[in-house]
Amino acid sequence: MPELPEVETTVRGLAKFLEGERITRVVLNRADLRRPFPADLVQVMTGATVSTLSRRAKYGLMHLDRGATMIFHLGMSGRWRIDPETPETHDHLLLETAHHRFALCDPRRFGSVDLVATGALNLWPQFAALGPEPLGPGLSVGHLKAALKGKTQSIKLCLLDQRIVAGLGNIYVCEALWRAGIRPTKPAGKVTGPQLARLVPAIVAVLEASIRDGGSTLRDYAAPSGELGYFASSFDVYGRDGQPCRRDDGGVIERIAQGGRSTWFCPVCQK
Ligand SMILES: [Zn+2]
Repeated sequence: MPELPEVETTVRGLAKFLEGERITRVVLNRADLRRPFPADLVQVMTGATVSTLSRRAKYGLMHLDRGATMIFHLGMSGRWRIDPETPETHDHLLLETAHHRFALCDPRRFGSVDLVATGALNLWPQFAALGPEPLGPGLSVGHLKAALKGKTQSIKLCLLDQRIVAGLGNIYVCEALWRAGIRPTKPAGKVTGPQLARLVPAIVAVLEASIRDGGSTLRDYAAPSGELGYFASSFDVYGRDGQPCRRDDGGVIERIAQGGRSTWFCPVCQK
């Protein structure tokens, strides 16, 4: 499932080929993904120039010169293909510029495409309640201290709450908590100041490391079958149950369930 680093990598990859380019053709191969494509999508996008691309939480934003922004979410299985050699059954949306073709492929169709007035993006319901970006200035020790104050819910589940931090997924929360030495089950309100001071840079570091890994696939973007969005990462704790902690502290990584999802942690160094 594409997480924030994959979306960021996808946005950067698309930006290289789309920024400043005029969209000459838009084709919809079906009426909907998770929800219907906007009725005016083809009309608004055809002939528009892409000014910039950006990301908010796990959404990619394609800003057009017509005061509109196309917002895409990759859902469970979505990815963009650049200059695909052969069409795929699940290429649901096609964009063309003078130089390149782009296909949004989404076999499971949990993704979405929306069109929102650029000036009103912050009011878009999916964005209105989002917390700060983990890679932006809004994520600070002070913000977390205030947001977690008195909370009895576990720190793991609080960090997955998009109202507290936007766009953090299961993998990166597990990794950041290991890096910061915080037990995932600890009540969020009981996480200490020094722990929060380690947590903020830990979140930034795990995301940036993953984006850097993804960056290595940027080289392939120009390849005819170039696919954006997925890359393998090596994790310190995620998926490593039964294996020794990478801190060599004698701990063996444990796997538990929290909120219906798996959590991995080291019982020795995460307190
Ligand atoms: Zn450990």
